[in-house]
Amino acid sequence: MIQAQNFIAGEWRKAAKEVANINPSNTADVVGQFPQADAADVDTAIAAAKAAFPAWSHTTVQQRHDFLKKIGDEVIARKDELGRLLSREEGKTLAEGIGETVRAGQIFLFFSGGCLRQAGEKLGSVRPGVDVEITREPLGVIGLITPWNFPIAIPAWKIAPALAYGNCVVFKPAELVPGSAHALSEIIIRAGLPAGVFNLVMGKGSVVGEAMLRHKDVTAISFTGSVATGRRIAATCIEVDPMKKVQLEMGGKNPMVVLDDADLKVAVDCAVNGAFFSTGQRCTASSRLIVTEGIHDRFVSAMTERMKSLVVDDALKDGTQIGPVVDQSQLDQDLNYIRIGQQEGAKLHAGGELLNRQTPGFYLSPALFTEVDNNMRIAREEIFGPVATVSRVKDYAAALAMANDTQFGLSAGICTSSLKYASHFKRNSEAGMVMVNLPTAGVDYHVPFGGRKGSSYGPREQGRYAAEFYTVVKTAYTFDGY
Ligand code: ADP
Repeated sequence: MIQAQNFIAGEWRKAAKEVANINPSNTADVVGQFPQADAADVDTAIAAAKAAFPAWSHTTVQQRHDFLKKIGDEVIARKDELGRLLSREEGKTLAEGIGETVRAGQIFLFFSGGCLRQAGEKLGSVRPGVDVEITREPLGVIGLITPWNFPIAIPAWKIAPALAYGNCVVFKPAELVPGSAHALSEIIIRAGLPAGVFNLVMGKGSVVGEAMLRHKDVTAISFTGSVATGRRIAATCIEVDPMKKVQLEMGGKNPMVVLDDADLKVAVDCAVNGAFFSTGQRCTASSRLIVTEGIHDRFVSAMTERMKSLVVDDALKDGTQIGPVVDQSQLDQDLNYIRIGQQEGAKLHAGGELLNRQTPGFYLSPALFTEVDNNMRIAREEIFGPVATVSRVKDYAAALAMANDTQFGLSAGICTSSLKYASHFKRNSEAGMVMVNLPTAGVDYHVPFGGRKGSSYGPREQGRYAAEFYTVVKTAYTFDGY
């Protein structure tokens, strides 16, 4: 069992309180005991980060490259062990846990290379004898707040660019999955960063998160989580003095359009993967399947057939395709939406039942609703579980309109063999990421990630676009006096 501590100001520290980390595949299995920091711990971490910033921000790009490379290499070398820990605490399958771990390592390697590629611009001035330079500088102390559904990849895609561009970090992982965050932090610390550059402060959002938001020495906050929390965080970041730069990644209600001319197997693969893998607990999940009349019945019956063969079981067991829901409260939310859908008049076509397995866990069979009107709550609100809706539409135009008829705009997909519809959908979808003949979930690590409307706020994450958030632009003028 892991007995974890926070890492603050260059040392491991106990907190006054602790909380148990429970395996959702087997609630009798305690992964470890994890600290619950208080506001004083946050203050100490921020003071240490502030003190470390002048020296850290002036390290060479080679030094920062070497730190990040070391971290990325170790994460990848230990992918099986870290992936197992991730699956044990979060409930995604071992293959998904290992895949996510490799991705986290790749993100560190990407940004280690990014350190060496940082560049500015030099321009002529409109005035004689004057040069203009545009450079990017680090922001200072950055607070990183992450959710439970990607316990290592999301921390990686915030920590790696923050450090690469010369910032110091105070990292607050989600309460439900501190094990992966702790393991990643051990690797980061072992790479030999100077004291104060990286701080791990585990604890409650309402305590640790709030203290970070309100602290004058935190320059920026990057958050991934729910819409309600994101909205509150943005409001606080503007309200405090000095105002903080803020980046939010929040929910999704991602449409996956299936047209009459789609390859049925491709469409079913995309829908099953997008809607139910990772137990549907992805902000990019394909939760709204929008299907044209000519293929609707064939699609629903092929999808139902596939769903019968899906193995829902212990995340660590060989052959499991879908692990448990993350905890009781998320399971209650999923079941509540399944009831709401039935009350609203949608047809629960398959699944949505609690399952018993060898060990006590939060097992739910993937649920498919049909005859869903896009105004129903199950089509509008993010459920964040293995629950998908199917809405029948007349043609492509109606499908596009319904796909865009949502408060969210993270990812959107279309399955079609028509270049005409695929191209039109790419241009007219109101989402940050568009997929053709691919699931809405599952993105590359070297290109921007983010959405529109209620899904995201602020600059994109990942790839070289991450520099937009993690740096501030300086414009310098020089007169040569000649
Ligand atoms: P989820 O449903 O994914 O738990 P939340 O938005 O509640 O979504 O949580 C995402 C992250 O935000 C977690 O790390 C959580 O601790 C943190 N958090 C929750 N409330 C606050 C808050 N008031 N201030 C700052 N962070 C918070």
